Amino acid sequence: MKEVIIATKNEGKVKEFKEMLEPRGYDVKSLLDIGYTAEIEETGYTFEENAMIKAETISKETGKVVIADDSGLSVDYLGGSPGVYSARYAGEAKNDLANLKKVLKELEGIEKEDRSARFRCALALCIPGQKTKTVEGAVEGFIAEQPEGTNGFGYDPIFLVKDKDQTMAQLSSGEKNKISHRAEALKKLSALLDEEEPE
Ligand code: IMP
Repeated sequence: MKEVIIATKNEGKVKEFKEMLEPRGYDVKSLLDIGYTAEIEETGYTFEENAMIKAETISKETGKVVIADDSGLSVDYLGGSPGVYSARYAGEAKNDLANLKKVLKELEGIEKEDRSARFRCALALCIPGQKTKTVEGAVEGFIAEQPEGTNGFGYDPIFLVKDKDQTMAQLSSGEKNKISHRAEALKKLSALLDEEEPE
């Protein structure tokens, strides 16, 4: 069985990767599964750079095939912020509620048409001895006036999905996983794997 390490400790993300890769004959492991506890510094200026840093760091240390992801919210009115700082927008405590409140405050009094935003996700695939490949997925929407819904995590309660009258946090996980930035990136990664199956 071909082994692939997902460079994350987030079990929710690992589950999504397992659902996609196990039917294709991959043995999917997380950082927790391989006992990797160190923090990898995300020093990149783009989602793509950060995903590459994580995938290449773990691949170098293990000599294995590694997939890494980096994701976040990009608000047009804020020039693309919080962007790569999404997790720690309101401080190093990485507090989801404080983060979304900060975005709401910054958009106070701004009309709906100027509240456009998207979730973005970059995935990097690092196969030892090969150039790292990346793909990206996005889902378009608007920042709501106030939080609605209790599902999901992060900025989901304030992200109104385009063409739906609901926030991401009002969708079931099944619905979210069909349309999310991560789902779109995973589909592209799947196509990439079809082109070149790592041994
Ligand atoms: P990371 O890719 O796990 O580092 O996520 C970065 C940050 O982006 C998270 O802490 C969230 O604040 C935000 N984020 C990424 N994906 C989502 C999502 O699907 N919903 C809500 N927030 C997200």
